[in-house]
Amino acid sequence: MLPISFLDLEKEQVRYKTALELAFQTILRKTNYINGDEVRSFEKSLSEKFNTPFVLGCGNGTDAIYIALLALNLPKDAEIIVPSFTYAASAEPVLQAGLTPVFVDVDPRSYCIDISDLKSKITSKTKAIIVVHLFGQAVDLQSIPFIAKEHNLHLIEDNAQSLGSKVLVDDELKYTGTIGDIGTNSFFPSKNLGGFGDGGALFFRKEEHYQRAKMIASHGQSQKYIHDIVGINSRLDTLQAALLSVKLPYLDVVLQKRKENAQFYFEHLQHIDSIELPEVPHYSEHSFNQFTIRLKNNRRDVFQLYLNQKGIPSMVYYKIPLHHQKAFSGLKKVTLPRTEKLCEEVISIPVHPCLDQEQLYYIVDQISKFE
Ligand SMILES: *Cc1c(COP(=O)(O)O)cnc(C)c1O
Repeated sequence: MLPISFLDLEKEQVRYKTALELAFQTILRKTNYINGDEVRSFEKSLSEKFNTPFVLGCGNGTDAIYIALLALNLPKDAEIIVPSFTYAASAEPVLQAGLTPVFVDVDPRSYCIDISDLKSKITSKTKAIIVVHLFGQAVDLQSIPFIAKEHNLHLIEDNAQSLGSKVLVDDELKYTGTIGDIGTNSFFPSKNLGGFGDGGALFFRKEEHYQRAKMIASHGQSQKYIHDIVGINSRLDTLQAALLSVKLPYLDVVLQKRKENAQFYFEHLQHIDSIELPEVPHYSEHSFNQFTIRLKNNRRDVFQLYLNQKGIPSMVYYKIPLHHQKAFSGLKKVTLPRTEKLCEEVISIPVHPCLDQEQLYYIVDQISKFE
């Protein structure tokens, strides 16, 4: 059996090791651990790379969503539309902010928010939509911004899993996270731009939202020791910013590798009837943070056992939809058939940028032999 890991952070480090150590030593020497210049320069690099005017670093991707919601200054009875097929962190901050999540179904091919279900769930209380670019797949943003505008809704893009993905808007491919009012990002180690601990960032189109978010993330301070509102403490560490600055220039190379691995799977797995491969729609450029397939006819769990026996790691994102989680049980009951079905059928196989040819061939070979 060939050793394969689901993620290979050790192998990935090799590319940057010397530069990371140098950056680490610099911060140790400068001791500017909180709010160092490196944070501002990393924010500036993100702003340039992703062509987005205002960027704010923060503690993690979950805080980013919480800060985004507070920055929009919504009324207390606001309903926030969010898909149920996602990580809990997409919806948790809605409740933390004292607002009401309204779960909607997803499209079974893209795994992203279903536009007709979204439309049907808009009420007079709806104030924002959180779309989630899931697994590196961009949400179709050709019509959602118009729907948002028509109903006077804010648009938040949870871009935690898809930094570097692109989506067609007005006949132009743009980076996900830069189209809505606010885009939220995570530098959790397994994400496209993985840090060395927790970290996150917000992208804003309007300076007004940026200014308010900045205040919220820093104890509601408008100036040092002047607290205008109740905020939180959520900062990107100087050390994380310095280390992430080393990795950012290589993001495209790393994502290219993910896309090549995915392409390999498309070529070698498309003939297998029992497996449905992820959709790659014409309107987007997938970054394959995950390669998530579907096993029909209740075969997912048997397939996972089989992979285990062959030494191929896999993960199920997500087994329980958010609307079935105890933490969200206080909300109005909904039935979301496509989400519920996906939770029974999906499984993610390794697609990380450090897989080699031998490992890829081994994986498709074993999967092809699954009966
Ligand atoms: C990882 C993730 C988050 C939260 O990011 P953290 O940095 O771990 O707080 C939010 N939404 C989605 C979809 C995620 O996958």
